[in-house]
Amino acid sequence: MTNNSLGLYIHIPFCQKKCNYCDFYSVVPTEDIKNRYIESLCSEIKKWGERTARPIDTMYIGGGTPSLLSEAELTAIFSAVRKNFSLTKDAEITVEINPGDKVAEFLNFAARLGVNRVSIGVQSCLENELCTLGRRHTADDAGAAVTAARKAGIKNISADIMIGLPESNSDTLQKSIDGILALETEHISAYILKVEEGTPFDKMKINIPDDDKTAEQYMQLCGVLKAAGYEHYEISNFAKKGLMSRHNTRYWLQEEYIGIGPSAHSFFEGKRFYYERNISAFINEAKTVFDSLGGDEAEYIMLRLRLSWGLNFKDFENKFKKPIDRRLIDKAKNLEKHGLCCVDNHSIILTDRGMLVSNTIISTLLGVIYEDI
Ligand code: SF4
Repeated sequence: MTNNSLGLYIHIPFCQKKCNYCDFYSVVPTEDIKNRYIESLCSEIKKWGERTARPIDTMYIGGGTPSLLSEAELTAIFSAVRKNFSLTKDAEITVEINPGDKVAEFLNFAARLGVNRVSIGVQSCLENELCTLGRRHTADDAGAAVTAARKAGIKNISADIMIGLPESNSDTLQKSIDGILALETEHISAYILKVEEGTPFDKMKINIPDDDKTAEQYMQLCGVLKAAGYEHYEISNFAKKGLMSRHNTRYWLQEEYIGIGPSAHSFFEGKRFYYERNISAFINEAKTVFDSLGGDEAEYIMLRLRLSWGLNFKDFENKFKKPIDRRLIDKAKNLEKHGLCCVDNHSIILTDRGMLVSNTIISTLLGVIYEDI
């Protein structure tokens, strides 16, 4: 990535059916809504392209379900991006897909348009779990999606897996991990199921593992993936050597990006802002809402601690022109005694166990130095 470069995120807020756990912003589209949305999206892309000449070296089309787009719709998005921004030659261009439907056809035209990385929502390799989650595909569909991506010439593939699922245990998780490993993807993202307010799971009486059992599942997953040659480079992300997600790493390194679409967030020229979670508002008058200034010390510490290389004291000093607060290092040394992090003269790095409770650790450490604020 060049210092001056930007990331570009494009949100496709369409799903054919809501999964039982999901609180991402998406709607079931009609043809008319899709047409009007693509038109608005392209004019926002143009607006942003006129606002900045900075090159784009990572682009991520997420959702929702981008694989519901037709060839004409995806082509329109790519044309708008290429016409209004300068995409670097080696840009990482990712698209999210859900297995099933017509993914083979989608991946063929996506690859022709320049997509070189695909993120597949596998979630589980057990049919009963997919059914409980309300997913619309089978475990075999996930394998077919990977094969289709490889056939289309896409070499960098990521698979999502969820842990802490209803009625799951270490045996069911192992079966699901084995299924994911058999896909031989370059990257795996793992998410702990959280029952979000307002989702179908919130209203259903589901039986999810307690915190201790979920912690065991997380440690099991970390151990198995590491043994299979994946580097645990961020709390929820594992990659084969050199194949970390460049786009997502940009978020954790506080590098700037523009997000376009309802619910998409941006960090641009030092400010954080977002579009409302409302497709009609976006179509009628797309406007961003100011969120906060970004890039401060607390945010830097919080984001660096998510990564496997942790919080480096020299890097902090170079960026903020002052040494890291000694009290934070002393507090981290206490946490080290409980196996939650490793501290030396250069950095603080969370262990796998620490990553599992990263929110608590980060607020404990930040509380030490910002208690007066
Ligand atoms: S497909 Fe993805 S975005 Fe759509 S409802 Fe399911 S989890 Fe949510």
